[in-house]
Amino acid sequence: MTPGLLLRGLLSRIPACVLCGSKLIRLSGRPYGALISRLGLEAYRCKRCQRRFPLPRRVALSEVNIQSVIPESNPQKHAIEHAFHRALRGVSGTWTIAILIAPQGNRWLVTLRGPREALHFSFSPEEQNAERVQERVASALRTEGLCD
Ligand SMILES: [Zn+2]
Repeated sequence: MTPGLLLRGLLSRIPACVLCGSKLIRLSGRPYGALISRLGLEAYRCKRCQRRFPLPRRVALSEVNIQSVIPESNPQKHAIEHAFHRALRGVSGTWTIAILIAPQGNRWLVTLRGPREALHFSFSPEEQNAERVQERVASALRTEGLCD
C-alpha cells in the first residue's frame, strides 16, 4: 500500500471508497497485515473501481436496527436476532431488519433493508432458529455481492 493510500484511509470519516467515492463497498476477502490492523484499519474493496483500500474499522462498520415481533417467551429470540446482526457483519451502511409474523400460519416474514437494496425472506417454523437464519441471510448477501 502506498503512504498516500494509507493516509487517505486513516483520515476517512465516511464508509465510501477513498479512491472514487463510491459507497458500494464491502469487506475485502484479502485483509491487510497485522501492522495495518493495529492502526485500526480494515481492507475494503470497491465494487465500482474494483480497487482495495483501507478504512478505519469504526467508520466502515454497519449500523443495524432491528424491529422484531419475536415474543420474549421464545427461548431463541436473542440468538436469532443476534444471527441477523452476525450475518450483516462486514457489510457497510445502515440496515433495518423487520421481523413480522405472517397473519395466517406461523411463518416469519423478514425484510432486510439496506442502503439501496431490500432482501425478503420467509422462514417456516422449522427454519426459525439461529443457525438457519444466519445461513440463509449470509447466502442471500453473497448472492447480492454484498459480502464474500
Ligand atoms: Zn472506488
